[in-house]
Amino acid sequence: MSPVPLAADRLCIHQVTLMQCDFAQSIACLARHGVGKTAVWRDKLAETGVAEAVRILNDHGVAVVSLCAGGLLTAPGPAQWQQALDDNCRWIEQAAAIGATSLVTITGGLDGGDGDAEAARQRALAGLARLVPEARAAGVRLALEPLHPMVFGARSVISTLKEANAMLDLLNADDVMGLAVDSYALWWDSELEDQIDRAASRIINFHVSDWLRETRDIRLDRGMPGDGLIDNRRIRQRLESAGFDGPVEVEIFSELDWWKRDPDEVVQTIVTRAAACL
Ligand code: ZN
Repeated sequence: MSPVPLAADRLCIHQVTLMQCDFAQSIACLARHGVGKTAVWRDKLAETGVAEAVRILNDHGVAVVSLCAGGLLTAPGPAQWQQALDDNCRWIEQAAAIGATSLVTITGGLDGGDGDAEAARQRALAGLARLVPEARAAGVRLALEPLHPMVFGARSVISTLKEANAMLDLLNADDVMGLAVDSYALWWDSELEDQIDRAASRIINFHVSDWLRETRDIRLDRGMPGDGLIDNRRIRQRLESAGFDGPVEVEIFSELDWWKRDPDEVVQTIVTRAAACL
């Protein structure tokens, strides 16, 4: 398969990649560099409010691929679990209001402080089943995102695309449920390519960053594409072979490096790297 550089209009940069900016600053910075797609982060949306966020997005001609991140449905207490459902219903409405195609959804970790992972998975599954009609009514898809096993306890009780595919089989709602494939979370998995083929049209979102060989923080030291070990272009080509033609979304949590830099430098670097290695 010959490597084909990513078309510029398929580049999306997550708002969280510009953590040093507020909502308006991040969108203005993307627009300055000709990046027309973003994924909005809930914290920044909460600071700005939906109406003002929509105005800023429209003024700059930036489209919203998704709202990040919902789910977190593993609370063991019934009141907390119900609260999580209510929160997700609100986030689904917000996603629809800002024009997002999907709400990226993570299961949540072992919040109860016990180690019963199967019980936590069952609570997440039950919560997702409850959200299916809400998402369907709002016209927003839920993109289930497996995360790296090192954040199993804190963030996600599913770690592989195989487990996510199995959860979607149980939910049997592929018109509204789908998947977010994050290369940082999944690149190590020997079954990744087979599971991409199996997921096929379920794949809604494709998140990329890089794995730094000597990472200093599993969650907050993600690398710039090209600086680490992940062959993001190869994963993209596998996704495309399976039918995916959506945006490639750069999502870099980098407390130690990129969040400290000038946002224009960050976006310019991503634009250059996208042409070279996405
Ligand atoms: Zn992600």
